[in-house]
Amino acid sequence: MTSFAIQSRRDAQSNELAELATAYLQEFGLTHDEEEPDIVLSIGGDGTLLHAFHRYIHRLDKVAFVGIHTGHLGFYADWKPSELEKLVLSIAKKDFNVVEYPLLQVNVHRHHSETSHYLALNEATIKSPDVTLVMDVELNGTQFERFRGDGLCVSTPSGSTAYNKALGGAIIHPTLPAFQLTEMASINNRVFRTVGSSLVFPAHHTCVLKPVNDQRFTITVDHIQLTEADVKSIAFNVATERVRFARFRPFPFWERVHDSFISNE
Ligand code: NAP
Repeated sequence: MTSFAIQSRRDAQSNELAELATAYLQEFGLTHDEEEPDIVLSIGGDGTLLHAFHRYIHRLDKVAFVGIHTGHLGFYADWKPSELEKLVLSIAKKDFNVVEYPLLQVNVHRHHSETSHYLALNEATIKSPDVTLVMDVELNGTQFERFRGDGLCVSTPSGSTAYNKALGGAIIHPTLPAFQLTEMASINNRVFRTVGSSLVFPAHHTCVLKPVNDQRFTITVDHIQLTEADVKSIAFNVATERVRFARFRPFPFWERVHDSFISNE
């Protein structure tokens, strides 16, 4: 029997839809199971879907996400509230395909404690808490550049339309197993030099950031903020885990990009 969970943005409209969806899905014989769902219905915006992803990060191979957007951008959350009944019917009839997209693996190595492992659906960012970020960028074990600037953003293909896009990074089709390194306001002059462009890496490549002096950093993984004081290096790869989305109808990626960023009329 299919089980479901609901993640709501917790505003009045999202909560009301969550209650309706729960009642409909139960009427169709689905089990409400917040612990071990097969389907997670996210009601809110992309931010809500990020929360849902991190809530069920321990069972990504068993869960499929689908999102309804209530007034926000809804790049991931591409169903409208008025389509709730149609969506519930399709879930009940299992009338959907599952698509899998790549994720970013982030390993924070420390001098005096164990390595922490994180998975990002959108991106990880690295900033210095109070001064210019200075980091050596090592690609596949070879020194590439010394970055000085506001920060660095390492994004997944799905996250390439989020923070990465605001920084001028490329939009990458989410079926490509890749990740992207994008600069935030690098210092570039006769003395200090970085490549300037975003770099896109294939699945077998590794990008490592190494502190030059300061070992204190503010690291974000999607909406989660971490404060680190003892960083030896931070390594990025395409993760072995993937995120699964339930797709009920074709909605080509480039159409979603068009509707989100150009016009949805
Ligand atoms: P948030 O309010 O949940 O997200 C900020 C905006 O980014 C929202 O409009 C959100 O859409 C949109 N968004 C999220 N993922 C997206 C995606 N994959 N493609 C296109 N748009 C997307 O903020 P938060 O709670 O701090 O969440 C963290 C996320 O915010 C990060 O992962 C980062 O990508 C994004 N962010 C963006 C900027 C920027 O663009 N300058 C700066 C900081 C953080 P909804 O309105 O549908 O939720």
